[in-house]
Amino acid sequence: MADSRKVLEIVRAMGARIEQEKDYLTELDQPIGDSDHGINMARGFAAVEQKLPPPESDVGAILKSVGMTLVSTVGGASGPLYGTAFLRAGMACTGRKELDLAGFLAAMDAAIEGVQARGHAAVGEATMIDAMVPAQQAMKAAAGEGLSVRAVLDAGAAAARAGAEHTKQLVATKGRASYVGERGLGHQDPGATSFTDLLETIAAAF
Ligand code: ADP
Ligand code: MG
Repeated sequence: MADSRKVLEIVRAMGARIEQEKDYLTELDQPIGDSDHGINMARGFAAVEQKLPPPESDVGAILKSVGMTLVSTVGGASGPLYGTAFLRAGMACTGRKELDLAGFLAAMDAAIEGVQARGHAAVGEATMIDAMVPAQQAMKAAAGEGLSVRAVLDAGAAAARAGAEHTKQLVATKGRASYVGERGLGHQDPGATSFTDLLETIAAAF
């Protein structure tokens, strides 16, 4: 599915996509948060690009580097959460120079577990988890049907997008958005949206 070079290319594409979505992500964070999600993510991925290891590195080392940079450069909830996601994904790929679909899904499982261990959010609390979990379920189902890598990733991205949109109907009970309570109804969660952007970027690379 992807060797180290391809993973580096995808991480750079993630940074470019986040830069494109920066203003929109920040706008989403205005009514329910503090208007910084796009700024946080763009700052984090700009730093990630500066610190990426060379292409000889294994996939695990690349993803761990992304995670460490996000944890150390992004303030707010999303830095430690996305940072943990990439760190855990990297740990799941330690020593691997090539990732197949099963390896990718295992890394995604580890990433989601990391976010949940750190943030304690379950599905239905209007966070990035509401995009991550349905995306992963859709990808596992699609992989189980023997679909191509691209079709599996597209199924995941579509489920993430639907999950992010569904957060409009949820009252946040975790993170900053929980402070606004029911006034958050009708507003889409920024973190669920940025996760969807990242997964779409992965899909577009195949
Ligand atoms: P902050 O909320 O500190 O300003 P950001 O605006 O960058 O940080 O990120 C907000 C996003 O972080 C939310 O939209 C949500 O998806 C995610 N988030 C916040 N708290 C949690 C949590 N406990 N578990 C999972 N995701 C969370
Ligand atoms: Mg914020």
